[in-house]
Amino acid sequence: MSESLKENAPLKADKVAKPQKLVGVKGMNDILPPDSARWEWLEGQVRSLMARYAYRNVRLPIVEPTALFVRGLGEVTDIVEKEMYSFEDRLNGEQLTLRPEGTAGLVRAVVEHNLLYEGGKRLYYMGPMFRHERPQRGRYRQFHQIGAEVLGFGGAEVDAELILLANDLWKVLGLKDVRLELNSLGQPAERQAHRAALIAHLEKHSDVLDEEAKRRLHSNPLRILDTKNPAMQSVVEAAPRLLDFLGEASLAHFNAVKAILDANGVAYSINPRLVRGMDYYNLTVFEFITTSLGSQGTICGGGRYDYLIEQIGGKPSPAVGWALGVERVLELIKEQGEALPDLTPDVYAIIPETAALPVAMQVLQTLRACGVSAQMHAGSGEGMGSMKSQFKKADGSGARFALVFGAEELAQGLVAIKSLRDGEGAQRTASLSTVADWAHSLQSTL
Ligand code: ATP
Ligand code: MG
Repeated sequence: MSESLKENAPLKADKVAKPQKLVGVKGMNDILPPDSARWEWLEGQVRSLMARYAYRNVRLPIVEPTALFVRGLGEVTDIVEKEMYSFEDRLNGEQLTLRPEGTAGLVRAVVEHNLLYEGGKRLYYMGPMFRHERPQRGRYRQFHQIGAEVLGFGGAEVDAELILLANDLWKVLGLKDVRLELNSLGQPAERQAHRAALIAHLEKHSDVLDEEAKRRLHSNPLRILDTKNPAMQSVVEAAPRLLDFLGEASLAHFNAVKAILDANGVAYSINPRLVRGMDYYNLTVFEFITTSLGSQGTICGGGRYDYLIEQIGGKPSPAVGWALGVERVLELIKEQGEALPDLTPDVYAIIPETAALPVAMQVLQTLRACGVSAQMHAGSGEGMGSMKSQFKKADGSGARFALVFGAEELAQGLVAIKSLRDGEGAQRTASLSTVADWAHSLQSTL
């Protein structure tokens, strides 16, 4: 046997590593019951709303070539400078990155598969994103986004449609206390003129700029407006406004978005300092913000990105989209005191002896096929356990009924149904040959 094969041989019993408790990666959370029920509920609401707006789902890889994000998001961005989980593929040396956001990958896929061949597309995605940030409430290293993107249409009406869609989602989810901030970043030439004025202004106040701002002064001054440093707020507030540099066409686009929002009763405020984290935005940008989550209050952000498709090698096509942070939205739902979706099963099956298992499990299969949720008592491997302990588990499950598969009833082709919710513990029997007829009487009416 060769050396390498020997190395791969299973460890001998006496060489097995000592058991050791391992914990997950910092900032990457397990999503467990009962909380996961809220996730499933939210995802269900999103799917059904997306269908009503005729947006179609895409599922994309979590790993992409690093160059996609460097190119797509811009080199001088928080994400590319310091937040990406990048690594080399050990087998072929390729530079790869765990996706920090969804738009770049989606555009890559749209270009790669020529999806705009027959016209525009309305798409959405959901899934985990990865950013190496300092974990805190509302900020994690693995977090989840749901994103909606419209590609191939340049009109203000799709910007507005996306905002209406997000706004509807807050309604469906019962979110209160969410406000919309809107801005326009204009077109590259307009930004260029504004940029010169902005740099001049910031240079005048270079004494209050922090290290990051100084570094970005000439590479990405617009992003300085996005600073969270309180010491820089007054300088940033007095900075020249990009809105004042917009030409007629950009203003017309912005006004058209506003007119549709006004007509649909969607309230917003204009925030001239709203810029977004990625370089790819132009014209409309927006954020939905809540004051209920402390400093991590932005639940959704987006805007137009008419130059990204070309940047990633596609035929120039306009596009616009948004992404929401699932953790933050769920935190807001929790903050508002919404109850968790009900997870209790309708029935709990009590099985006194293992001999009853084949018949009992057949009955449970029929119940489930009829839409009843049924939890079966499971034994230790050495029998099913005492009736007392089984009834305790049945009570603990929250089920409305216990089905008791006792030998005596089974012998007569019957099963006992015991109510667990009314103090009396009312009991009746039902026939095993007509399960489908009485199944619905067990279903919770909640
Ligand atoms: P922030 O300014 O809070 O860092 P961002 O501008 O980096 O946000 P985007 O890249 O626009 O965020 O992502 C869209 C949404 O995804 C955010 O509005 C937020 O709700 C959520 N999000 C972003 N980063 C994280 C994170 N590390 N953990 C949890 N949610 C996040
Ligand atoms: Mg960020």
